[in-house]
Amino acid sequence: MANNDYSLSFILENGMSRGQSVRLSESLDEIIKRHNYPNEIGLVLSQAALLTVLLSAGVKYDGIFTLQIQGEGAVKALVVSLTTDGKIRGYVHYEDADLAKVRFDENGHASLSNLFGKGQMSFTTEKSGQTYQGIIALEGDTLTDCVLDYFEKSEQIGTQIKIEAIPANTEHGWAAGGILIQKMPFDKKMAELLSQKEQDDIWETDVVLLNSVKKEELTDLNLTMEKLLYRLYSMNDLHYFMPSELKFGCQCSQSRVINMLKGFTESDLDGMIKDGKIDITCQFCGEKYEIAPEQIKGAQ
Ligand SMILES: [Zn+2]
Repeated sequence: MANNDYSLSFILENGMSRGQSVRLSESLDEIIKRHNYPNEIGLVLSQAALLTVLLSAGVKYDGIFTLQIQGEGAVKALVVSLTTDGKIRGYVHYEDADLAKVRFDENGHASLSNLFGKGQMSFTTEKSGQTYQGIIALEGDTLTDCVLDYFEKSEQIGTQIKIEAIPANTEHGWAAGGILIQKMPFDKKMAELLSQKEQDDIWETDVVLLNSVKKEELTDLNLTMEKLLYRLYSMNDLHYFMPSELKFGCQCSQSRVINMLKGFTESDLDGMIKDGKIDITCQFCGEKYEIAPEQIKGAQ
């Protein structure tokens, strides 16, 4: 069976632009079916998962890259995390009653203000034991708009992103795809060959080409990302690298749960004990853990 879950890095124009592409299907099926999310929630989760993969490719990190959205609307929290070895997981915290009041269009999309109310998006990474966090304002119609605004204002890096997702149907599971391109800093070596204006024009062409990509192409599981990139950029000195496989995976474990519980006060812990034990369910994968109070104290 073909693997439909992978990311693929590429460069264009002799390295004047870098790019990242992603395709997700089975991993989204796992996340969405495990939680039994309706399509509207599946769609926003898919978009966040695509952006997680695209954004994580631009930063060097150890372990886990986490994208998190906190909201005050129908959706209170959305979290996606990706490990360096390609395991992706996610969950969405929302109330059915609040979701019923959100206005969705015929494609199942709602504006961010409608879904999250006042909210904030952030991404967190760790490198050599140091935590790095980027804050992205949740202002804009779509998650992509917010990320593009972040790159323009905070990082001042020319960036374009296209992501699309469609729910599972009778023929295939969830299907999602995305491409990000980013302008590399002005290259002095290239300056002998191309002026700043010429380099800017080349970048504009790359953006126009990316904007021409269709939803049906990004979500067509029979069209590999290699083929799609070739279709878009074969005339633009496209070089792509080996794809990296992605799959659903959760990092929860008994010892991580115990460590998490060690962060609570004794009286908080006492409040969690039922029938002599603490029951914890992993929000990401649904795995259930039974922890005896002695295990928390014993681990200290
Ligand atoms: Zn888990």
